[in-house]
Amino acid sequence: MTEAVIERLRLFLIESPIKMVRLQGVGNVKGSVKRVLVELTAGDGLVGWGEAAPWEVFTGTAEAAFAALDIYLRPLIIGQPVKRIRALMASLDKALIGHAEAKVAVEMAMFDILGKATGLSVADLLGGRVRDTIPLSFSIADPDFAADLDRMREMVPAGNRIFKVKTGVKPHAEDLAHLDAIRSEFGDGVDLRLDYNQALAPFGAMKILRDVDRFQPTFIEQPVPRRHLDAMASFAAALDTPILADESCFDAVDLMDILRLQAADAISVKLMKCGGLLKAQGLMAIADTAGLPGYGGTLWEGGVALAAGTQLIAATPGISLGCEFYMPHHVLTEDVLEERVANRDGHVVVPDGPGLGIKVSEASIRANAKILAERA
Ligand SMILES: [Mg+2]
Repeated sequence: MTEAVIERLRLFLIESPIKMVRLQGVGNVKGSVKRVLVELTAGDGLVGWGEAAPWEVFTGTAEAAFAALDIYLRPLIIGQPVKRIRALMASLDKALIGHAEAKVAVEMAMFDILGKATGLSVADLLGGRVRDTIPLSFSIADPDFAADLDRMREMVPAGNRIFKVKTGVKPHAEDLAHLDAIRSEFGDGVDLRLDYNQALAPFGAMKILRDVDRFQPTFIEQPVPRRHLDAMASFAAALDTPILADESCFDAVDLMDILRLQAADAISVKLMKCGGLLKAQGLMAIADTAGLPGYGGTLWEGGVALAAGTQLIAATPGISLGCEFYMPHHVLTEDVLEERVANRDGHVVVPDGPGLGIKVSEASIRANAKILAERA
């Protein structure tokens, strides 16, 4: 197989309009989201794509990812063998602290090329599929709750069962009324999850969480700010509902702290937090050992990054709580793919085909997203 090296790196900083307002507690999103697309070309002509999709209130900025890739990482990538992904990722970590999103964009593009060179999917390269579809979770985060209820009335009959309500943004009484409305209309037929996005102060949070406990959510995600692991541990010990760490668990170092303090029962795995597909599998190896299942989280990722996440979950048994990969279908007004990764009967269908299993359309990038910067 190929001994090819990476010969070219192209970058696009794009801004995409979005079609719904999202109320998230922190960083409410309205109008548009920015991300970076990476195209790597190997000496044998094979092309791979990657995506950095930071969120400024969560991981970092798209502009910083673009600069990291263009100025600091580019010289380390050009000339490197397609087959030595782990070695390349180690050199990126050594050269630049942080910038997980920029690094994972490189790694997914490398895996895309290696897959195309070998005829294998990225899931194959990560150990092979353990599942062909992934249950899809849709987030209830529209400022207009009635609009979300209308969406549910369409989505539930279409097979969607998992809904994650963004709580803690509106007054608590309103959250309770909304949860009541959902359970009254859809009963136990929907798998309800709550995500506070760090909204609650530790002081008084227990009372609020006991109130929502009675709606029997599958989990409560990140009720308090990232650093309050002791409070997270007290909720995990006291409540029937499992506590899931998102902002508190970026990577394996965070997970070790969580385990030491027993601060969560499950974790959200996001490529943009942990900075790599290999690292995500390493993270899940620790979580599996400790008995914590993973949930496939996302920031505002488009088709390329979500294809990578889909391949990861397909090959990682412990990420068993589904995924929230609904952005290209429901939120973004464009997709850079010729064909979106399919959603069927409330599930994301893992794409067939080598590499990430997608085809990127440069024409679509140029026609549908605003290109803020481009570098070859
Ligand atoms: Mg979250």
